[in-house]
Formats: sequence, C-alpha cells, structure tokens
Amino acid sequence: MTDYDVLVVGAGPVGSTFARHMAEWGYDVAILEKKTEVGVPLQCAGLLGKKIKEVNILPEEYIINHVRGAYLHSPSDHILKVAKKETHAYVLDRIGYDKFLAELAVDTGADLLLKHNVVGVDTKSGKIKLAHGDEITADIIVGADGTKSVVSSAFNEPTTAFSAVQYLLQTEDVLETDFVDLHVKSEISPGFFWSIPLSDRVSRIGLFAQGNYAILNNFLMNFKNSNPKFKNSKILKKYYGAIPISQSRKNLVNKRTILLGDAASQVKPTTGGGLLIGFECAKIAAEAAINALENEDISLLKNYEAKYNHKFEKEFKTQNRVQKTFKLLNDSDLDEMFLKLKEKGAEDIISNYGDMDKQSYLVKEMIKRGLLTAVLPKVMYRSVSNIWNFF
Ligand SMILES: Cc1cc2nc3c(=O)[nH]c(=O)nc-3n(C[C@H](O)[C@H](O)[C@H](O)COP(=O)(O)OP(=O)(O)OC[C@H]3O[C@@H](n4cnc5c(N)ncnc54)[C@H](O)[C@@H]3O)c2cc1C
Repeated sequence: MTDYDVLVVGAGPVGSTFARHMAEWGYDVAILEKKTEVGVPLQCAGLLGKKIKEVNILPEEYIINHVRGAYLHSPSDHILKVAKKETHAYVLDRIGYDKFLAELAVDTGADLLLKHNVVGVDTKSGKIKLAHGDEITADIIVGADGTKSVVSSAFNEPTTAFSAVQYLLQTEDVLETDFVDLHVKSEISPGFFWSIPLSDRVSRIGLFAQGNYAILNNFLMNFKNSNPKFKNSKILKKYYGAIPISQSRKNLVNKRTILLGDAASQVKPTTGGGLLIGFECAKIAAEAAINALENEDISLLKNYEAKYNHKFEKEFKTQNRVQKTFKLLNDSDLDEMFLKLKEKGAEDIISNYGDMDKQSYLVKEMIKRGLLTAVLPKVMYRSVSNIWNFF
C-alpha cells in the first residue's frame, strides 16, 4: 500500500496544474515543494500567448497588461514592427498566478506539502527520499521540479540550460504599453534581449544566453544604459533564472516516474517560453497517468511520451532550425537580414502569420515565398542548407 496514488515534486505552475487534473478525478495526490512559499522568487518575464486561456484557468486579476505586437530590433537598430489588431499576448503576475494554481490544486483535493525537499527518487518502487530523512511512496511520481530536476537526474544526464537575468525598471519617460521589444545580437545569440511593459512607467527587461550570471548582468546593464528608453530608469529589482535547452532525446518516462515542464525541458526552443507547453503536457500526462492507474498497468505511462512527441516534435524541429540559423549570423548579417526583410514586406507577413507559440506557420510561409533564401547572406547557403535540407 502506497502513501499516495500520485506524488508531484514541485509546486510550480506545471506541477500544480497536473496535480489539479489528477485530484479532479478523485486520486490521492500530494505536491512536495522544497520552498516555504510558492511562486517566489520570480523567474519569468510573464509573457504568454492568449492561447493560454484555452489550456488553463487564468483569472483576469493575474493579467497585468495586454500586448498586441512587437518591435524586433537588429543590432544596429533596424526595426521590424509586427502588429496584430487585437491582444496577442498577456503579461502575467507570475508570482500571484503560481500561488493561485497551487491553491486551486489544494481546493480540488491535493495536499500541498511545503518544506519538503526531495533528494532522491526510486523510479521502480515509487519511493521518494526527503532531505529531512523521511520517505514517502506513490504509484506514480511526477518530476515537475524545474531545470535542476532531482527526479530527472535519476534517469537522465543533467539538464543543459541557458542563464537568464531580468530587471524590473521604473522609467522616467512614459512608454507605449501594448508592444514588447525584442533585440537580437550575435554575442548573445541564439538568446535575445526583451523589454516587456507592465504599465507605462514600469517594464521588465532581460535576456537569456549561454554564460554565467556575471556576464549576462554586464550585457543587460549595457543594454539598459545604451537604450534611450531605459537610460535614466531605476532598477527596482534584479532576478536570475535558468531556461532549459530543448532536448529531443530526453527520457520523459522511467518505470513509475514521469517528467513535466522545465524538468522535462519542455520549452519553445526559440524563446525558452515554457508555460503554455507545460500546461498542455500536464493534460496529456494526466490522461496517461489516469489510464495507467485505472488499468493497473504502469507501462501505459509510456503513452505520455509518445503523445508528447507526436504533438510537438515537428514544431520543435522547425524552431531548432531557426535557432541554429540565427546562431550562424554575425551582427552585420543580422542587420542586412532585417533590412532585406523590411524591403520585401516581411512586416506584413509576420503580422499575418506570426504566432508566438506556433512559429512553423510563419516559417512555412517564408519558405513558400522564397524569403528565407532571399534574406540570408549568399555565402551561407551551404551551411544553412545543411540545417534546413532544402536548397
Ligand atoms: C528569466 C525567465 C523568463 C521567462 N519568461 C517566460 C515567459 O515570458 N513566458 C513563458 O512561457 N515562460 C517563460 N520562462 C520559462 C518559465 O518560467 C518556465 O517554463 C516555467 O516556470 C516552468 O514551470 P515548471 O512548473 O515546470 O517549473 P518551475 O516554475 O521551475 O517550478 C519548479 C518547482 O519545483 C520546486 N523544486 C525544485 N526542486 C525541488 C526538490 N528537489 N524538491 C521539491 N521541490 C522542488 C521549485 O522550488 C519550484 O517551485 C522564463 C524563464 C526565465 C528564467
């Protein structure tokens, strides 16, 4: 007899959502969270495509701002404006939202056990070891314990990750609130800088890239000081985090154990955004877990991995190719590409076909119109063709 049907390690947004799905079906679920408080410190820019409302509950009170477009900046500041007529994304109060999702799981019947630091997992017997020495068992264990997942390390190599740094800024000037800014630069590629308005005087600016926090902090400080919009702004807070590098070969299921969210490296390869995919995966994983428990056949957990691959494999492949292509470009290539894109009317195409969560639509359209080849430097055709396999 086990202590619980399901143990979820990590009360992040994805773990709490999965736990709620299981509790809705009447299963005995506990969430083990090492921290004393859910949601802190903030490790997110909080930008989510509006599709989030189709994949999870999102009360209006956690939406700080509505966004309908983006300015894309090249290294020398050639700008592409991408605009939708209506809201395309929300900026969230992530701390509040994480707490809301955890409370919702508890209201639905899950136990939330704070100060429960998991230090070991036996994927075969379903036994979890806690830092304070206790052990706890379940039929199914779910590792939703983020980038440095202890659960994942029981059957995977350590997760590789980008570093991310973000500042909360109070600006002197009043800024536009319905557009975000994204800046590419070869020294941080395939990462990028972002600025996301929370209001007309408060913004989140940040970047993700390979490198340590000190290096990224320097990049971000230079970015802030050289950007006229933020030059005289005041830093209210600094945040640090990690974004898993998308890994197609990661094992998501091992015996009684599955991985979810950042622990499973389930992020968009191009932007590192993980919430929407994490919520979709929480649903797929819950279906597989319910099936396995109903049929008393733990091998049915494997359906989760199969369905996940089926749903996301193609999109991730495209995004990985976009990322690899960007990595080839130096600053002057990027400038040239932006100028050519503008000249060829790409702003309209991106505005019409761009979707921050499904980028393959846009890429397909650009390939169809011959734009990808037209905007890349000719000397790169060979290396780019190796990535895309189509010239
Ligand atoms: C700077 C930054 C900006 C980002 N911006 C965006 C964005 O704009 N949009 C977007 O979609 N995504 C964004 N992301 C990614 C997003 O934040 C993650 O994908 C998301 O938080 C993943 O949720 P999760 O529940 O899988 O993991 P997490 O949110 O990391 O939660 C994991 C939980 O597990 C707990 N835990 C860890 N180890 C243990 C243990 N051993 N025992 C018990 N508990 C444990 C942690 O304390 C934590 O509460 C950003 C990330 C960063 C770093």
